[in-house]
Amino acid sequence: MPEVKSVTKYIFVTGGVTSSLGKGIISASLAKLLQARGYTATIQKLDPYINIDPGTLNPYEHGECYVTEDGAETDLDLGHYERFLNVPTSQANNVTTGRIYQSVIEKERRGDYLGETVQVIPHITDEIKHCIKLLGEDNKYDFVITEIGGTVGDIESLPYVEAIRQLRWELGNRCVVVHLTLVPYLSAAKELKTKPTQHSVKTMQEYGVQPDILVCRTEKPLNEGIKNKIALFCNVSPAAVIESIDTDSIYRVPLLMREEKLDLQVLKKTNMSANCLPELEKWEEFIERLQNPERTVKIALVGKYVELMDAYKSIIESLIHAGTSNRCKVDLKMIHSEHIEKGNIENLLEGVSGILVAPGFGERGIEGKITAISYARIRRIPFLGICLGMQCATIEFARNVLSLSKAHSTEMLPDTPHPIIDIMEEQKKINLKGGTMRLGAYACNLKEDSKVYKIYGKEKISERHRHRYEFNNKYLEIFEKNGMISSGKNPETNLVEIMEIPAHPWFVGVQFHPEYKSTVARPHPLFVNFVKAAIEFNNGNN
Ligand code: GLN
Repeated sequence: MPEVKSVTKYIFVTGGVTSSLGKGIISASLAKLLQARGYTATIQKLDPYINIDPGTLNPYEHGECYVTEDGAETDLDLGHYERFLNVPTSQANNVTTGRIYQSVIEKERRGDYLGETVQVIPHITDEIKHCIKLLGEDNKYDFVITEIGGTVGDIESLPYVEAIRQLRWELGNRCVVVHLTLVPYLSAAKELKTKPTQHSVKTMQEYGVQPDILVCRTEKPLNEGIKNKIALFCNVSPAAVIESIDTDSIYRVPLLMREEKLDLQVLKKTNMSANCLPELEKWEEFIERLQNPERTVKIALVGKYVELMDAYKSIIESLIHAGTSNRCKVDLKMIHSEHIEKGNIENLLEGVSGILVAPGFGERGIEGKITAISYARIRRIPFLGICLGMQCATIEFARNVLSLSKAHSTEMLPDTPHPIIDIMEEQKKINLKGGTMRLGAYACNLKEDSKVYKIYGKEKISERHRHRYEFNNKYLEIFEKNGMISSGKNPETNLVEIMEIPAHPWFVGVQFHPEYKSTVARPHPLFVNFVKAAIEFNNGNN
């Protein structure tokens, strides 16, 4: 354990050459290594787009929108931070250019800058610096890692790089810049190429920032010659050229970074003690289980963004955590809800031992989701419905068990005669779309003897939300009389948070998003139990 509390150090992670090099995973892995040495670290993502937050973005644009405890709609990288560190993040961990400008413009209108011309430098850069330093206030963390979204050289990222330049000047060796670049392999020449890295570092230098550490993403190992060459051209020591080789699991990256001594380089450059060795036994144990599954189980994920794995990132990761904890590989079958019909469902779901219906918004693909749920209910296949998935499960039940054939959600059919799912009372007067849903953590009380009560092992839970519509309590009695019960409710508002069918082996719909809370250290009990039920179903069918 580090002995004395030190002043906060700031680590900036920038990216060059291309996007998608995995800055989020590198940041999370570095934080994990520092945490494993007993340091406290938090990670922040600065996104250079104008949206105030990604809540209004289509998942095709930016992947999943990740929701924090305090109800912030944030970038999916925050999900990685939480999954790796097992520490909750908050609104302060994700800032966009839109939010920066909004704050500066509000200050201007208030008169905070009276007499001054408000400009990118210093006003916008000051606001950026303020957001970075906010996390370091009171030296609460030993390290604040700030990941800058986008690629260096983009017009949008310029004010961020400028803010880094200024902070380095102000804070000296309390700052370290880690630059992530690509070292491509040209198969025709059978060679790794360093030129893109050289150019990318030159771009940083033009802006007045010399990276301290280069993390080089590569598909082939970097030999000493290549490392020396990069070091020579880019003004860093060879030890500060870190190889980041492609790997089959993001969870191996902290171990790879430990081998490459990324954490040691950071500690050295910030004058922090490296006496405490990283304790990663639990993590290694997780990797061991992940890589040596004893069985495989096929689970279908039904949604409408299945072409894009990032759209359901937290669900997919939660299933990996749950599989690992069951010593099982989850073979995920992504099924596009728009492709599902009564005639092909049997084929599409062949060999599937669990069906998860995803969250979502709008009409598209709803009937396919309902058909998949019918199939799960009647064939007694384990079913987990999340948010819209839970809402569809109640619509399916109303139509096919309660014979309310026109039952629907008013989100899809505003004048349905049977609004099983309806807009929440306090949502009715809201017209603005940004940040106005029921968001973040809410309490839920579980019904004794229910399946979820047994799964969670307690009565009071708290889970994160992101929705406007809700189960219509007028229908609860008739649902419960006919076999679908509400096993979780919000204690203050009585809103239904969980529906389950006790007579079914495993049929649970949740209005909240358990996937936001599953981490490597704490796989979520609902997912763990769902995968366990899928394994049992699979065993029963063999
Ligand atoms: N569209 C539904 C609602 O707003 C479900 C939202 C979700 O799945 N996140 O209530």
